[in-house]
Amino acid sequence: MLDVAVVGGGPVGTYLGCLLAQAGLSFAVLERRTQPLQHSRAIGIHPRALHGFSRLGLGDAVQAAGVTIRRGLLLGEGSRVLGELSFRAADPRFPYILSLPQVQTEQLLNGRLDALAPGALRRSVTVRQLKDCGSHLTLTLETASGQLEQLSARQVVAADGWRSALREAADLDFPGGLYADRYLMGDFPDTTPFGQDAVISLTQGGVTECFPLPGGLRRWVVHTGCDLLTDAEPAALTDIIRERTGLPVPASECRMLSAFTVRRHLAPRMHLGRLSLIGDAAHVVSPIGGQGMNLGWLDAETLAPLLTRAARGEQVAPAEWRRWEQTRRRSAWMAARQAEANMSAGRPVTAAQQQAREALLTGLLGPRTAPLLASAFTMRWL
Ligand SMILES: Cc1cc2nc3c(=O)[nH]c(=O)nc-3n(C[C@H](O)[C@H](O)[C@H](O)COP(=O)(O)OP(=O)(O)OC[C@H]3O[C@@H](n4cnc5c(N)ncnc54)[C@H](O)[C@@H]3O)c2cc1C
Repeated sequence: MLDVAVVGGGPVGTYLGCLLAQAGLSFAVLERRTQPLQHSRAIGIHPRALHGFSRLGLGDAVQAAGVTIRRGLLLGEGSRVLGELSFRAADPRFPYILSLPQVQTEQLLNGRLDALAPGALRRSVTVRQLKDCGSHLTLTLETASGQLEQLSARQVVAADGWRSALREAADLDFPGGLYADRYLMGDFPDTTPFGQDAVISLTQGGVTECFPLPGGLRRWVVHTGCDLLTDAEPAALTDIIRERTGLPVPASECRMLSAFTVRRHLAPRMHLGRLSLIGDAAHVVSPIGGQGMNLGWLDAETLAPLLTRAARGEQVAPAEWRRWEQTRRRSAWMAARQAEANMSAGRPVTAAQQQAREALLTGLLGPRTAPLLASAFTMRWL
């Protein structure tokens, strides 16, 4: 009988595993993949998460591996600078967003979990069933060889991603859906003059974003209207970048290319009996704004003390679980609204709309409102 079983060893499940190990709980993190996913998704680690990494003993490692983004530049048509957003006041200790590909972040989390609780991360096991046994929950696991096993825990946490089987087993809806916006992203050697700045370029054709990555690379993301360019070659992306910004990017040196759609979902409950949902299993927000993974870490950070108290036999009142759920659902709701605002600011527009958009954004980047925007972009409100 474990104190906690965490289903899903993605960035959020392994982060929670590290917290449970530090609290001295008996737990397992169950992950169906034999190896971590190599496809890069998230890159931005926000200040609140950086404090969390520091507490996990990973502060120096993430700093050494990542690139600090201290400001974002906003460009308009003809690469005219509309303004800048400084993250100077975002946090006294971490006045920046750290750029680190999710693959590397997950490697660091996996390594830390192994060091804190050897063997707690079990790979190649798929959770097939969840059964409520009153005083505990029992999971049915399928191993790589097809054998079925039972595992019991007093609390179970679903961190199994947006297609969560546990959320379905608990008969919870996942209201939301797909937006019409489509994007193409790719990583290339950084041939721009932008250094460690993030740059958002808003032109009539739609947004072009770029962010520095470790290893002298830069991540580019462009809005492609309603077209999902699944079969695109790197040159399709670099042509769009050149057309919108005038910047040459070496297509032949592309390191990663991916077309993606964006969705929004929010589960009606994040805690039911002995089951809690965190990360993408509980909420999906559009990645435009880079918040999903950070939101999941905040779920984990705030859930761990409740799980620890429950494991130590302390009574956690139903009102406390409800408060946790309400706070986390509110954060996810706000993050989704913010991401929607980001997406709508980056859609293709007419020439007249472009002029109005540039005027509006230049105003928003003025001295009174820019610090508020910087707070929003560094997730201080969540
Ligand atoms: C293009 C793109 C860019 C993004 N950029 C950012 C960004 O800059 N910043 C940010 O914060 N977020 C970003 N995100 C979002 C971020 O990638 C996700 O929010 C994050 O991966 C969610 O982590 P998770 O651990 O909750 O879920 P997942 O990463 O989906 O992990 C879930 C894990 O559970 C495992 N699993 C599933 N079912 C089972 C089962 N039955 N048994 C055992 N294991 C199971 C899966 O194999 C998987 O490893 C981006 C997303 C995309 C698509």
